[in-house]
Order: sequence, then structure tokens, then C-alpha cells
Amino acid sequence: MVLAGGTGGAKLARGMLDVVGPDSLTVIANTGDDIEIYGAYVSPDPDLVTFWLADRIHDRGWGLAGDTFQVMDGLKAIDVEVWFNLGDQDLAIGLERARRLQQGARPTEAHATIAKALNVQATILPMADEPVRTKVLADDRWWPFQEYMIKAGGASATSHRVQDVEFHGARNARPTPEVLNAIATARAIVIGPSNPVISIAPILAVNGMRAALHETSAPVVAVSPLVKGEVVKGPTAAFMDFTGLPVSNDGIAAYYDGLTDGLVADQRTAGLPTLETDVLMATPEDRRRVAEETLKFALALG
Ligand code: GDP
Repeated sequence: MVLAGGTGGAKLARGMLDVVGPDSLTVIANTGDDIEIYGAYVSPDPDLVTFWLADRIHDRGWGLAGDTFQVMDGLKAIDVEVWFNLGDQDLAIGLERARRLQQGARPTEAHATIAKALNVQATILPMADEPVRTKVLADDRWWPFQEYMIKAGGASATSHRVQDVEFHGARNARPTPEVLNAIATARAIVIGPSNPVISIAPILAVNGMRAALHETSAPVVAVSPLVKGEVVKGPTAAFMDFTGLPVSNDGIAAYYDGLTDGLVADQRTAGLPTLETDVLMATPEDRRRVAEETLKFALALG
């Protein structure tokens, strides 16, 4: 089982798919970044994981390869402010998700239908069916997550100071029966190399998630999102700074203290048993190797 936000977790999940096959892989994905826009219900992290597992992720790191943007162009042509870009096929997915939710489907069911339509056989589970929304306090203002990333420049500004983070609704959200079953029956649980503070923390904030992870007999290991001490992509450093922990593998180990049995990183850490290996996943071979070594390490700890 892999816990994932977007890119980092999705790349590891793609490697894990090669190692264990679709029937043995479950991904629990963050839904704190979800957004309702253009009449669609967009679930960026579960969708990103799905696009990766379908081998349809666009090279730029989001959206579908080969997608077009005619609806966005059409909206701009009638003076709609398009600050959140969605490809046409991506928008179709969000519209269909909204329709199914309106008909009473749970987000878990709606996502399963979408994954199946994209020929993904592995199981991708939203962390909860109740809405959880990540909010970021920056410039003395609370931003919904996507607005923080895009409008407030959170995605690019490494020096952008994060004052606080909140997972609105997490206390009233529960891991779904599917998530609880996946945790209870997993042979190994891997926290993917996603941003710990905004991609993994919302999953852990769901009421009952940490307890379920503590109760399971499966080993829990994390893969570090740092490569040679640096963040590969996104605002992980700004969010680690907010926690007061260093942007280092020691900081990552401290962040997951009490939850994980080990860390996979390219440097030894003080706090946790570490598997020292190159964790850059630029190619399919890298992704498979990191997944395979991580799984072996986890099973040896279990
Ligand atoms: P996103 O920003 O919403 O797409 O999602 P994530 O939080 O899942 O991904 C961001 C994190 O992934 C950053 O901290 C990156 O350093 C990490 N990351 C991206 N690519 C790699 C990789 O190849 N290896 C490792 N270890 N981490 C990666």
C-alpha cells in the first residue's frame, strides 16, 4: 500500500505497479487539494496517481498526455477568469465525477469508475469520502490550497513564508471501509516521497487514520522526497520550514517519528533505520528499483 499526494507518491506507485502487479497495489491518495470549479469536481492527487498508473501523465507533470484546452480557451473568449487550467479530457473527468457525486455516489465509488475507464486495475482510494480541504495561511490571509499554489505563487516561490496550515473537515472525516480494509490487510505500507506537510499530513489528519496505521501489523516505511538534500519539485521546503524542522532527511525522519519503522533516503539519518539508496525516480527503471528496494526493506523490518 502506498500513501500518496501527487508527483512523488505517484512516481513511486508507478514503480510499485511493476513490482507487485495491479491486484496487489492499493494507493491511498490525498483529497485535501480537491476543488469544485467550472461545474466539475476535480480531485488532483487521486487523478494524478491514476494518470501515472495508466501511463498517460503529461511530461509537464500534470494532466493527460495529448489533452487539448479548447474549453479553457472558450471560457477566456467569454471573459471568464481562467486561473485554474484543466485540459478538455481532464475537465470531462471532473464533470463526470461531479455528476456521479450528485447522484449520490461516494467519492470512492466515483473515482473507481474513472480509474476503470482509464484501464487502471490497481486500487486507488481517496483517503476519505467526507470533504477535507487544505488551507494555507500566508501573507496574513487564509488561502484555499489551489489558490495559494496558483494565485499566491505558492507553487513557485521557495521563499514564500507559510504561517499556518489547516485541514478543514479532517476531524469529521473517517477512513473509508475500503481504506481501513487496505491498511488492515497490507503486507507493507509505504509513505510515498510526497510533500509531508501538505500531501501526506492531510491523509494522516483524517480522524482514525493514524490509529489504523498504528494497529496494523504491516511495517510502515517512508521514502524521502529529498534527492541529494534538495526538493525535486514544488514547495516542500517552505512547508518544512513552517514545521520548524530542517529541510533534510533528519527533518523528514523527525516529521514521521512514531509512525514509521524506517526511511528510504540517499543519506543515513540519525532517527530511523535507513535504507541508503538513490531515490531519484526519473526513469521507469529508477521507479521500479526504488519501489523494489523499498518493499524489500519494509518486509525485512516487519
Ligand atoms: P505535487 O507537488 O502535488 O505534485 O505532489 P507531491 O507532494 O506528491 O510531490 C512533491 C514532492 O515529490 C516534492 O517534495 C519532491 O521533492 C518529490 N519528488 C518528486 N520527484 C521525486 C523523485 O523522483 N524522487 C523523490 N525521492 N522525490 C521526488
